[in-house]
Amino acid sequence: MPHTASGATEADHRHAGRQFGFATRAIHHAYDPADHHGAVAPPVYFTSTYAFGSVAENDEAAARGGVLYAREYNPTTAILEARLANLEGAEACLVVSTGMAAIGTLMLSLLSQGDEVVVHRTLYANTVALTETGLPRFGIKVIPVDLADPANLDRVATGRTKLVYFETPVNPLSAVLDIAAIANRAHALGIPVAVDSTFASPALQRPIEHGADLVVHSLTKYISGHGDVLGGAVLGRAGTIARLHDHGLRYLTGATMSPMTAALVLRGLKTLPLRMERHGRNALAIATMLEAHPAVRWVSYPQLASHRDHAIAVRQMSAGSGMLALGLHAGFDGARRFMDRLSLFGRAVSLGDAESLIMHPASLNRARRAIRPEAHLAEGVGDDLIRLSVGLEDAGDLIEDLRQALASL
Ligand SMILES: *Cc1c(COP(=O)(O)O)cnc(C)c1O
Repeated sequence: MPHTASGATEADHRHAGRQFGFATRAIHHAYDPADHHGAVAPPVYFTSTYAFGSVAENDEAAARGGVLYAREYNPTTAILEARLANLEGAEACLVVSTGMAAIGTLMLSLLSQGDEVVVHRTLYANTVALTETGLPRFGIKVIPVDLADPANLDRVATGRTKLVYFETPVNPLSAVLDIAAIANRAHALGIPVAVDSTFASPALQRPIEHGADLVVHSLTKYISGHGDVLGGAVLGRAGTIARLHDHGLRYLTGATMSPMTAALVLRGLKTLPLRMERHGRNALAIATMLEAHPAVRWVSYPQLASHRDHAIAVRQMSAGSGMLALGLHAGFDGARRFMDRLSLFGRAVSLGDAESLIMHPASLNRARRAIRPEAHLAEGVGDDLIRLSVGLEDAGDLIEDLRQALASL
């Protein structure tokens, strides 16, 4: 059954007048088993196209911009879009095959030759590649600034600036940017703001509530949460999302999400609030231990009182995620020795999984230069930076593993 832009189903109307909490909506919103033979889990519609009873019905569907082909519509995917929009507090959502597809679909649909986009100077490595190498090829000018001081926006914005784009918390630094302060400045200049909220998930941070116009997620991370699928989402006003759908998904990227993936992301979403609670609790325990450890030079976890952006984090996020960064006194080589001694942390690049993961961007960058000579670390990322994605294991076991790896580095 198709959903309205707000994702309301009959089930939601039955409960009209009652606003459910986040965890309840993460499990129930936009799906009623009664509409699907009582199936508790949403059916996965494996179909590439939709057949019509007559040519006239087909004509009518085409004229309505309706459902003809699965690049643009799938009922399983539509449930996921409605649920994510609801949880994020957005009018609408478009899901696509990966987080990068979400960012590419957004940029290519909203920006044209001659336009300018202002981005925060530190971004996820592949977003850096998109902004440095990809967009300029199409005549789109990208201006990186330090948005920790939102006044920098006034300095670089011009009549051609069509978008402000940043992540918070910032990958991989776990710095926090002030969404409301940046959105206020940007809106005064008439520029929309897009926030990549992957590090937080809507369970902890909803950028639209702080004035952002668009939100991007890599669903690969916390939202699916089990390290077994790739996915991305863009959320925002219905008109903007319709444009991303009609231009971006239909003919620019064609990066449709598989309905099997949509079903897996819906499954992951059911436990999102529960998982984020544990990720945050574990990460805070680890950050507190690391901060006091003599081998550790610095720790960046926004929910530590010592974090530079702690006050913004407390205002903007309901709690901490599992992401933190640290540097050792033993620097680059020490980071490599430390990581090799760990047994519970997987040496892997992704994040947000049940398993704890660890990465050292400077090592990966050095290795990658063999095949990509232009590869470089994102602005502000030092040789010593180690990124932890704290998983759902017992905190005591993780702390023990980290302690033995830090001993006599
Ligand atoms: C992983 C990530 C992406 C890209 O998502 P994929 O699903 O891997 O394509 C974008 N932004 C951030 C902050 C990420 O961590």
